[in-house]
Amino acid sequence: MSLTNWAGNYTYRAPRVLAPTTVEGLQEVVAGEDRVRALGTRHCFNDLADGPAALVSLEGLEPEITLDEDARTVTVPGGTRYGTLARFLHDAGWAVHNLASLPHISVAGAVATATHGSGDRSRNLATAVAALDLVRPDGSLRHVARGDDDFAGSVVALGALGVAARVTLDVEPTFLVAQEVHVDLPWEAVLSDLDAITSSADSVSLFTDWTGDAVQQVWRKTRVGADGFERRTELFGATPADGPRHPLPGIDPVNCTQQLGVPGPWHERLPHFRLEFTPSNGDELQSEYLVPRAHAVDALQAVRGLADVVSPLLQVSEVRTIAADDLWLSTAYGDDRVGLHFTWKPLQPQVEAVLPTLEAALKPFDARPHWGKLFADPGRDLARLYPRWDDFAALVAQTDPDGKFRNDFVARHVLR
Ligand SMILES: Cc1cc2nc3c(=O)[nH]c(=O)nc-3n(C[C@H](O)[C@H](O)[C@H](O)COP(=O)(O)OP(=O)(O)OC[C@H]3O[C@@H](n4cnc5c(N)ncnc54)[C@H](O)[C@@H]3O)c2cc1C
Repeated sequence: MSLTNWAGNYTYRAPRVLAPTTVEGLQEVVAGEDRVRALGTRHCFNDLADGPAALVSLEGLEPEITLDEDARTVTVPGGTRYGTLARFLHDAGWAVHNLASLPHISVAGAVATATHGSGDRSRNLATAVAALDLVRPDGSLRHVARGDDDFAGSVVALGALGVAARVTLDVEPTFLVAQEVHVDLPWEAVLSDLDAITSSADSVSLFTDWTGDAVQQVWRKTRVGADGFERRTELFGATPADGPRHPLPGIDPVNCTQQLGVPGPWHERLPHFRLEFTPSNGDELQSEYLVPRAHAVDALQAVRGLADVVSPLLQVSEVRTIAADDLWLSTAYGDDRVGLHFTWKPLQPQVEAVLPTLEAALKPFDARPHWGKLFADPGRDLARLYPRWDDFAALVAQTDPDGKFRNDFVARHVLR
């Protein structure tokens, strides 16, 4: 088998991918294998989803989506892509609270890694999880629901506690969003008015290459209420884009979601890229570090100080905000965070050579690396960043004492 991740920078070492077509079949697979890992849509940039023996994909499971309007929840097989779920929900008059930049990722894979969108008041996607049906090492199915003792440790779980056969998510009535892009936001304004800028819409993303005096683009997504929507003419010195934009300068925005303030359904505005545009692989690598909101300006300054080192390897960086949550391994556990994201050119050795420098610059700010993207963690000291780390390690040891779901990533970073 020669299977790679979406970016093509990682070839899975597991010799087999099993694809059961029923939950019972999934339970049999898990019970029967000595070592097994869940595989989602392969959008991680590292070896997190890999395993020494079998991988199990949920892509063959019946795509059954169950909406419970009274409970305001929807239940999906873990392998369901957000884009598929979003269309279903919108057609039924419902929505999830936020989406990532790309709708093609699986719900269980996104949740397992604390995937997030942007928004001062918007928590990461995993916080919408109301319950999980987890296949345990012996193949039994355990329903873990909000309020259970180990729930907060079981949602962002890196695939280490079992395979999420089904995920139940909170939903809310569908809503409209308008998306605007402003260009050339002076860095001076970013540093002096960051809070006002990021709170100026429901979701705000700053796109920069860290050089020059201005952030190149600001993408702002605003929920449209009964009063309609008015485009903002001026934004702290930035001006409205005169046409649709791609986050990368000079690239045709045809695959980007609608801009210019035209209201549309949430799932056609919250991601940056359209669902119909399905890239099977990407010529890019990604890293991201989540710093406490209180350190955001200092962290931005620290990365600007490395612009000479970072920007030659960069396609673009994106700065987003994420509200605090209580999920033990969430990158926003305990406090509001700002995400400093790097979309790199596909130059892995050079990128890996720069990551320790970047991480050293961000270390004073307790930057948590995104679980699914490239990071170095040279001192193997992630534990100090997560107050509930030991509890998570204990939960893994208790749930999976024989290490059925363990892999190199988990051994290297979590159970050292
Ligand atoms: C183009 C692109 C855009 C992205 N945009 C964003 C973004 O906007 N915000 C953000 O935060 N991240 C973003 N990411 C990162 C991405 O969301 C994460 O890597 C996410 O984990 C991908 O989900 P997946 O289904 O591809 O997971 P995979 O890479 O397949 O697996 C990831 C982890 O999830 C586990 N897993 C998968 N399925 C299950 C299951 N059923 N049960 C238990 N565990 C499971 C795996 O074992 C593994 O540990 C982006 C990535 C790409 C390539």
